[in-house]
Amino acid sequence: MKLLPLFAAGILALSGCAGAPHAVPPSGGTPIPPRGSTAVPRPGPAAIAPSPPEIAGTRFIRVLLPGGTREVVLEGKSIRAWGVDGRPVAEAAGRVTLAAVGERIRWNGSRLLGGALDAAGAPDLRVGKREVAGRVRLLARRGDLLAVAVVPLEAYVAAVLSREAPRRFHPEALAALAVAVRTYAAGAAAKPRDPAYDVVGSVEDQVFDGTDGVAAVFRQAADRTRGLVVLYRGELARTVYHSTCGGRTESAEYAWGKDIPYLRSQLCDDCADSPVYRWEYRMSGAEGRRVARELGVPPGKDLRIAVTGRTPTGRAIRVRISSGGVSRELQAAEFRKAAGYARVRSLKMEIVAAAGEWRITGEGWGHGVGMCQFGANGMARRGAGFREILARYYPGTDISVESP
Ligand SMILES: [Zn+2]
Repeated sequence: MKLLPLFAAGILALSGCAGAPHAVPPSGGTPIPPRGSTAVPRPGPAAIAPSPPEIAGTRFIRVLLPGGTREVVLEGKSIRAWGVDGRPVAEAAGRVTLAAVGERIRWNGSRLLGGALDAAGAPDLRVGKREVAGRVRLLARRGDLLAVAVVPLEAYVAAVLSREAPRRFHPEALAALAVAVRTYAAGAAAKPRDPAYDVVGSVEDQVFDGTDGVAAVFRQAADRTRGLVVLYRGELARTVYHSTCGGRTESAEYAWGKDIPYLRSQLCDDCADSPVYRWEYRMSGAEGRRVARELGVPPGKDLRIAVTGRTPTGRAIRVRISSGGVSRELQAAEFRKAAGYARVRSLKMEIVAAAGEWRITGEGWGHGVGMCQFGANGMARRGAGFREILARYYPGTDISVESP
C-alpha cells in the first residue's frame, strides 16, 4: 500500500499497556470506534527557521498532548505563531501563555486571536514542559485549548519507545517494538481519530511525553528500522502490544469482539522473567465495596465478586457482583477498569474471597493482544531478530518499507 507523507500529501492521521487500538483501554474491552475525517491543517510558513513541516520527505504525525484544558504554556527562546492561513499573528520571547476563550485563543492574557494557530520556536519549543521536535497547533474548542504537536514520525517512534519499553531491553526487542509503534502510528495517520489530530499522546494510543531526553538505545531502534511497517495483505496491520501475556496471548476476537487473523492467540514461553508474569492484589473489603458501588451493586455483608466466564486462553470475560438480592454480571474489563489497571493488571486472574477481602492473583499485564513485550525481549535474548519476533506475534504479516 502507499502511504503519503502527512503534510506533503495533506493527510492528517494504536497502549500502556501499550498499543491498544483506538479507544481501547489498556485492558481492552471496548470495540474500535470509527475514526474521524481527514481534514488538512496546512503548515504556516517558517519565518524563524526551516520548521520540520517544510523538510521535504519528512513524515509527521499529529499528537494531541494530554493535559491541555483551558491554558497552554509555550516556552522557547523565540516563539512565533501563524494563523491557519499562514499569516504571522504573534511573536514572543521566552514564554507565552495561551488560553481558550470560547472558540478563540487569547495570547498572553491580552490579544484575542482566531480559533486555531500554529506555533514554532527557535531553536526549539516546549509545550507545557514537553519539548516537541516540530510545530504545535493550538485549537480552541468550546472553551478548551487543544495542543497538537506535529512531530516527525521517526522522532515520535523513538519518543514513544522511550516511554513504552524499558531501556534494558535487547536491541532486537526494541527494534521489533519500534516497527509496531510506527505501524500503529501510520495506521492512525491514514484514518485519524479526530479531524484535528491523529493520535492521543497517552495510553489511549501510545504514550508520548516529548521528544527530549530520549536515550540513544531508543533512537537507534527507530533508526535501524526506519520506515519499516507491518503489513497484512498489503494493508497496515493493527500492531497492538502489551507488557506481558503471562504465557499465552489473547485473541482480538475475545478482547475486543473482532476477529483479526494476525491477532489470534499465540503461545508465548518467553515472558517468564517479567516482573508481572505472576502478580497478586489483595483487594480490601472497603475497596471491594467501592468497586461494587461504582459498578451499580449496593454492597452489603454478603457481597460476592466472582469470575463467571472465561475466554479459551483462560482470561476472565465476565464477572458477577452480587449482594442483598441484587446481582449484576458485567464485562470483566469493566471490573478491571473500576478496580484499577495497575492493581488488576490483566484479566488472566482468579478472584478468591478470604477473610473479608479478596485475593486476586493473575498472570501478565495488559490486554494480552498482539506482541508481548517481555516475550519479545525473551526471544531476542535467545537470539531472535526483530523480524522473527514480529512474525511470531503478528503471524501471516509482512514487514516492508512504506512507499514514499
Ligand atoms: Zn508473553
